[in-house]
Amino acid sequence: MKIAHTLPLMILLAAVSVTASPDPESRSSVIEGAERLIEYELEHSGAWDVVAHLADMIGPRPSGSPNAAEAVRWTTETLESWGLEVRNEPVIVPRWVRGREEGWLTSHRDQQIILTALGGSVATDEEGLEASVVEVRSLEEVDELGEAVRGKIVLYNLPMDMELVEQGRAFEAYSKVAGLRGSGASRAARHGAVAMLIRSLTSASLRSVHTGALRYTEGDPKIPAAAVSPEDADLIHRLLQRGNDVTMKLVLTPRKLPDVESANVVAELRGRELPEEIVLIGGHLDSWDLGTGAIDNGAGVAGTMEALRAMVELGLRPRRTVRLVLFANEEMGLRGARAYFANHEDSLDRHFATLESDAGATEPTGFATTLPAERIAALGEYLQPLERLGAANFTTARLVGADTSPLSVAGVPGFGLRPNSRHYFDYHHSAADTLDKIDPEELKQNAAAIAALTWILAEMPVDTLRAPEE
Ligand SMILES: [Zn+2]
Repeated sequence: MKIAHTLPLMILLAAVSVTASPDPESRSSVIEGAERLIEYELEHSGAWDVVAHLADMIGPRPSGSPNAAEAVRWTTETLESWGLEVRNEPVIVPRWVRGREEGWLTSHRDQQIILTALGGSVATDEEGLEASVVEVRSLEEVDELGEAVRGKIVLYNLPMDMELVEQGRAFEAYSKVAGLRGSGASRAARHGAVAMLIRSLTSASLRSVHTGALRYTEGDPKIPAAAVSPEDADLIHRLLQRGNDVTMKLVLTPRKLPDVESANVVAELRGRELPEEIVLIGGHLDSWDLGTGAIDNGAGVAGTMEALRAMVELGLRPRRTVRLVLFANEEMGLRGARAYFANHEDSLDRHFATLESDAGATEPTGFATTLPAERIAALGEYLQPLERLGAANFTTARLVGADTSPLSVAGVPGFGLRPNSRHYFDYHHSAADTLDKIDPEELKQNAAAIAALTWILAEMPVDTLRAPEE
């Protein structure tokens, strides 16, 4: 809300230096630069080298880990070697490490249940806990059961909507179930449950488990929480359907260690005409601990770093400053995003737009944007270069990415790359998020779309994004 007062001023100031409607010559120079970047990326993209180093040479980069620190060091050094101005902005991040994670059905011949702790979960004691399992499909159902879950393990068993996934709307399908993972433990604990399980949030499974952060709410007891494989959730469902009492032994021994100082990596290519105006691009540098963070989010880091490298390489200096931010700790609570917002609150009115990449490494299908439809239409004439990539489809969304969400909420126009999402959640937050899941050709197209839109945003006239005051 704060920014609402400062925006008109910015538009007023900008109006002095920028013509209201661009002459055809400047329009063609915007498009020409974007086309050159696309050509370059499709031929010579370096995005693969970056994601390969992050995933294979550094590996898992959970918040606060030595690997996460190495990723900060290596990306800083790499960006400097490209001739960019780079700084590390300190961020205090949580450190949580996985321990033993085992479950078995004591009521059914000690059958093993494949599971993994949710990020931030508290531990059981060393011997674990044993209780009967209650199955639900929603938070409301837990409230309805109320006292009936006391002393029990609550299993949230709601599959992702595969129809949406098949339609290319996997992120919508994910957002319909992600709340269970975030809030399910506290909601069950409120009614006396002793542990929480959730069916892994995934669009495919070979008995795979998918972690992710939970949020304990203040005032509710903290109970251990884990994701079980879809097959194991189905097994428990079938046993309960038979009218069996299902009891389970659960051992989880993760530990919360003291907070660690990490950093947002911030690199800039100074603008040639409007250096004070910032187009912020980036994504998160941390990953989950189970896989090697190739698609989430080595690819987003690689694609946005590559946009800067390509501009330097081609000698394309944008009108506005392009600021790359590799955010610390997205996965365990957005500390990097919050620190960036707090550090730069004074200059929000100079943030022209944001472009976040945190949705995978596949070929682009377009971008989500916080702009309303009529503003997208105004942008339309500049988006033609994206057409050959299949990336010219822009749709309005309230938020377009986690790390830029504080800026979006404050009114900075936001853009989020939308790669083909069909298989994204097959691997997301699991041990299968590894480099082999990335097709180098698709990654080139992905990086080309990021580079081109970055250029377009950094070049375009100011009134394209922001409506004149009414
Ligand atoms: Zn991510």
